[in-house]
Amino acid sequence: MDTQSNPSDPGRLQQASSAETDRGELARTRQLLALIVESSNDAIISEDLNGTITSWNRGAERIFGFTESEVIGKPVSILYMPGKSEEMPAILERIRAGERVEHYETLRRHKNGHSISVSLTVSPIRDEDGNIIGASKISRDITEIKRLVERAQFSIAETQFRKLLEAAPDGILEVNAEGKITVLNEAAERMFGYGPGELVGGSIEALVPAAMRGGHSQHRASYAGHPKTRPMGTGLELQGQRKDGSLFPVEISLSPNWSEGSLHVIASVRDITERKLVEDRIRVLREQYTAELTAKNEQLEARNLEIEQANRLKDEFLASMSHELRTPLHTIIGFSELLTEQLEGPLNEKQHRFIGHILQDARHLLNLINEVLDISKIESGRLELKREIFDFGHCVEEVLAGLRPQAASKNIMLENKSSSQTTLYADRMRVKEILYNLLSNAVKFTPEGGTVWVESTHDVESLRVSVCDTGIGIAKEEQLAIFDKFYQIRDSRKVVREGTGLGLSITKHLVELHGGTICIESQLGQGSRFMLTFPLRNSHPVE
Ligand code: ADP
Repeated sequence: MDTQSNPSDPGRLQQASSAETDRGELARTRQLLALIVESSNDAIISEDLNGTITSWNRGAERIFGFTESEVIGKPVSILYMPGKSEEMPAILERIRAGERVEHYETLRRHKNGHSISVSLTVSPIRDEDGNIIGASKISRDITEIKRLVERAQFSIAETQFRKLLEAAPDGILEVNAEGKITVLNEAAERMFGYGPGELVGGSIEALVPAAMRGGHSQHRASYAGHPKTRPMGTGLELQGQRKDGSLFPVEISLSPNWSEGSLHVIASVRDITERKLVEDRIRVLREQYTAELTAKNEQLEARNLEIEQANRLKDEFLASMSHELRTPLHTIIGFSELLTEQLEGPLNEKQHRFIGHILQDARHLLNLINEVLDISKIESGRLELKREIFDFGHCVEEVLAGLRPQAASKNIMLENKSSSQTTLYADRMRVKEILYNLLSNAVKFTPEGGTVWVESTHDVESLRVSVCDTGIGIAKEEQLAIFDKFYQIRDSRKVVREGTGLGLSITKHLVELHGGTICIESQLGQGSRFMLTFPLRNSHPVE
């Protein structure tokens, strides 16, 4: 029996009436929901999974401009802005997967074509079995909010820009295509002597010296032809004109600024009055200094001329004196030698001694004259080397031979310990003079029974010669000074009275003229070693 269909059963009746009540509740709830949806300010739209619009509330009509009948059954893409449709497949994909998309900001298209900024919340719609059959979209029009945010951001940026402009130490001005000042900072107003806002809208030409104004508009036009960041008037002395008409030096740098479709120029102006003053001061000082220097140079030139003249006179004097002195000296020496030979008759012992003194001092005098002439020639750069190829060993032997009598008289052993046979391209006479000076000093300053010797070695680069003795030696502090002109060590003067103090000075010059070097190693009471080098490479003539 079908108990359910019996209406006379009171229990069943009760059940039936409660089901009706439920349906009524549901209908009321639905109605309420529909009312809520209808009265919402937001657009509430539903669409199926193919993107076809299935419901459309009044909010949607208000926001998008389409009526319900215009959109139901139409693809939702009619609401997309061109280029914005590619985001939807991804959103629908998430809906199919049962996800919700919240507060997704995008642009939508109004019926009349303008764009609307919307914030979307998209949720899946399920049937009674829970299958996803579509999507509900709540779109909130955020166009106005966006505009307000943008305006606020813009105003913050503008404030920051203004602060930056005012913080700049240089005057900054923006000039439009007509040459009118559109924006400027306080530094620019102060620099040109204007009050706040006085220059805005005025012509930039007001800041250009009257004499330059004509050309300035042409310059502006030519800048518009090649707008790029660059200094203005390179190489020119630019000036600005203050409100009171006074002028001041400026340095200007220009940059283009495209604003509202036309070319504006931003000029950064620097007042360089201070710098110019410093530069002027430096220029005056430099001129003064140059003038002083020129005067000093002139004085020096005059002095050089005087010195040159004095030198010439000295050379002439020395040349004539050398002739005048040497001629009689040669006569004295010649006749004294003749007398000592006693060919014209015998000399008694006293006469012999006297003639010996005359001869010794005359030779000493001749030596002194020769040395003085040598040093004067060297110092005036007139001593020229007469180079030739010769055997250095022979040269040593010749000098040693000349000194043997002197050495023998003091019982000094004179040795040649040279191990090398070297050919030298040098001034033979001068090399002999060098060796003679060193060896005669060695013999002179070595006590009886000592030894004096010459050593030499060579490689491809140079010939190294040492002149050594076991003599009185030279103190460390004297070792540099002995190469000075006329320098003689006081203690050595007690041992040996003869000498001029010129020998080592001449020797050093001669060695250096040959491109060589000279130095000394010595210890008091032990002896001395004079070390020479003569370059071998590049010193030979090209064959
Ligand atoms: P001088 O004509 O006096 O020898 P030099 O210029 O040749 O002049 O030498 C300068 C001085 O150097 C000498 O007076 C002497 O005091 C010192 N001197 C030079 N050679 C030697 C040496 N071999 N031993 C010690 N003293 C020396």
